[in-house]
Amino acid sequence: MIPPRVYLDHNAATFPYPEVLEEMAHVQRAYPGNPSSLHREGREARGRLDEAREKIASLLGALPTEILFTSGATEANNLALRGSRRPRTMGPRFLAVSSIEHPSVGTCARSLAADGHRVEFLPVDSSCRLKLDEFEACLARGPELVSVMAASNETGTLQPVEHVARRCREAGVLFHVDATQVFGRESFDLSRVPADYLSASGHKIHGPRGIGILVRRGRVPLSALFAGGHQELGFRPGTENVAAAAGFACALELVTRRLAERRVHLAELRLALLASLREVSPELILNGDSKETLPNTLNVRFPGLSAETLVLSLDLEGIAVSSGSACSSGAIEPSNTLLAMGLSKRAALSSLRLSLEEDLTPEELARTASAFRRVLERLRGRNVRT
Ligand code: PMP
Repeated sequence: MIPPRVYLDHNAATFPYPEVLEEMAHVQRAYPGNPSSLHREGREARGRLDEAREKIASLLGALPTEILFTSGATEANNLALRGSRRPRTMGPRFLAVSSIEHPSVGTCARSLAADGHRVEFLPVDSSCRLKLDEFEACLARGPELVSVMAASNETGTLQPVEHVARRCREAGVLFHVDATQVFGRESFDLSRVPADYLSASGHKIHGPRGIGILVRRGRVPLSALFAGGHQELGFRPGTENVAAAAGFACALELVTRRLAERRVHLAELRLALLASLREVSPELILNGDSKETLPNTLNVRFPGLSAETLVLSLDLEGIAVSSGSACSSGAIEPSNTLLAMGLSKRAALSSLRLSLEEDLTPEELARTASAFRRVLERLRGRNVRT
């Protein structure tokens, strides 16, 4: 019998909780109307959408009118960066984004720079933490918007966003936080992190794919990316996906309610996995901050080996992990995050990301370790190098 696979790529996609799938199927069946319609079916769908919005708002410490549904965090990030221009300002904008942001922030910022706007990329140190002195120096130059993620999707390193948000507020600078990887893994709320904009995504919190939110606090500037109807206060036109919104709210509630146990359990599993990998590969190097980290994420380097080959070999052994690198036009590019931490291209291309969930069993842990042992022995024997 072929053993079931071990999935260790939850930073790429978590699997929806059964409760989420049930809730979505129920909402899809029971609320088929268009929330913009005036008739009863429309009003009922609107009511169910508002219920989801209210639940999300109360879990995040925001107002329902501050929650805007989008197609995911990519759209939310683009909306925050592009749409946050202060009204009645002319000429180029000045934005500062961390150098380890997801491409939906990083590439968006680069395209704004290509359009003539001023963009500064804030550096991180070798453990993937934002350099606060460089952030302060940049703040003194008066950017319009600063964007720093709550936790790196690649290394799991937590960023000092509470401090950054407070300093931005004191300086009168808008602050956007991409909180996509943090919910259900680390405590986070808007009363502690006074961000003006926050992005999150359903499929990273055991919710549905294709839905996200942008939280817009108070009346901070925002303009829509698309022209269309008046949905989402006109900031995100298009018929709302009521079932997905309900699924998002259900998932956020479940991961938030269980956060305390999840954190402890995930952290134990992470350490157990790291210890067993160290046993099979003593030369392994941990990328990222060993303490200030998401409890579910491990980014590890296997000096001299190719991460791409490791991912494919482990896949054949039934283990799903990520190389963290992007494949662009057929060529494997090293991870921007690891390069920003000062790793060489070669070191970045020998790093793997393993991101866990609570349901990882001791038997799966043992299976993962022996798969690594077999693969590493094979590759070292064959001398497969970067
Ligand atoms: N930001 C971060 C930190 C992410 O990890 C991701 C997903 N990899 C995104 C944004 C994009 O999210 P989505 O897939 O919902 O567009």
